Amino acid sequence: MLIGVPLETAAGETRVAVTPETAKKLKAQGHTLRIETGAGVAASAPDGAYEAVGAEIVDRAAAYGADLVLKVRSPSAEELALMKPGTTLVGMLNPFDAEGLARLAAAGLTSYALEAAPRTTRAQSMDVLSSQANIAGYKAVMVAADRYQRFFPMLMTAAGTVKAARVVILGVGVAGLQAIATAKRLGAVIEASDVRPSVKEQVESLGGKFIDVPYETAEEKEAAEGVGGYARPMPPSWLERQKLEVAKRVAQADVVISTALIPGRPAPTLVTEEMVRSMKPGSVIVDIAAGRGPGGVGGNCPLTEADRTVVKHGVTLVGETNLPALVAADASALYARNVLDFLKLVVTKEGTLHVPMDDDIVAACLMTQSGQVKRT
Ligand code: NAD
Repeated sequence: MLIGVPLETAAGETRVAVTPETAKKLKAQGHTLRIETGAGVAASAPDGAYEAVGAEIVDRAAAYGADLVLKVRSPSAEELALMKPGTTLVGMLNPFDAEGLARLAAAGLTSYALEAAPRTTRAQSMDVLSSQANIAGYKAVMVAADRYQRFFPMLMTAAGTVKAARVVILGVGVAGLQAIATAKRLGAVIEASDVRPSVKEQVESLGGKFIDVPYETAEEKEAAEGVGGYARPMPPSWLERQKLEVAKRVAQADVVISTALIPGRPAPTLVTEEMVRSMKPGSVIVDIAAGRGPGGVGGNCPLTEADRTVVKHGVTLVGETNLPALVAADASALYARNVLDFLKLVVTKEGTLHVPMDDDIVAACLMTQSGQVKRT
């Protein structure tokens, strides 16, 4: 089968869907690989590395002209125009973007959004949300440490003692857990908050302190259990109490890393302008939810500006919306392995494409087929 791998053109996107490592494996399976010139350069994979494993380096039109196109982000209108009806597209296509999916359907593509894979054991090896959130959590701490004008670890020197940084992590999913682990390795003192009570143990096992906000009603307890491992919106009563607890910790924090998300909904506001005002000068907030706040404005903090670093009330707010792209080589390596694993489900042993709808992962990821949007 002819597989095309275009150069990603979305602003700031540095990742690539196939690395020389996975190209070699696809080639060994008998496929012909067409990689767009420069597709892997930003992820430290020059054209020569692909050629060395038997891939062809081609122009954009030839990459999009393949039977199966492997991407990181959804194609632009110009890129879609290069694809023929019946092409299969695999990528992070944003399952909640109804307009984007309608465009893919209108182009006659069979498309799979890998973010829609269920959070099951079998789907773990192709779970792009986890592989990329893990990197985002790590890089958020690295960026914070870079922006913060003090030390993370406690230092006892002849010139005096420096206190350890106090880091507050809001949202303890995959990104939050990696942020805790990374900040801990740097010597910070960590407190973390989440709506799901099950994460308390995980926070503690990584050496952090869980900010406990007990549930007072059956409704609060039920909401906190979430659905499919994901958070659900919490009742206002609980959110008010959480806000008070978080506000106390944020006022004392040197660094806040916020990662709280609810699939398909705006990110919850957890750090208000008043809380930012209460922070010490020189504190840093890295808002992983940047650009996903209510109405697409802000993130977990309404003052965050997407893709910008700004200083407000003496606090540095980092609104980087694509942290994994700042770790392009490893983010691509993990993403490409996720893609390779997913292909095992939709490519037959004979090397042709099929759509096995009795497979729950395939059924969940299938977004468009035969001109129709399958699910949003
Ligand atoms: P996510 O990116 O959707 O959200 C990040 C975190 O924000 C979540 O922990 C969520 O509970 C939290 N959050 C939402 N609203 C909040 C609020 N108001 N205050 C504080 N925190 C809030 O989450 P994720 O990283 O994708 O992980 C979701 C779940 O899926 C986790 O339980 C994770 O362990 C689980 N998971 C399971 C598998 C698997 O079994 N294969 C794989 C990956 C993740």
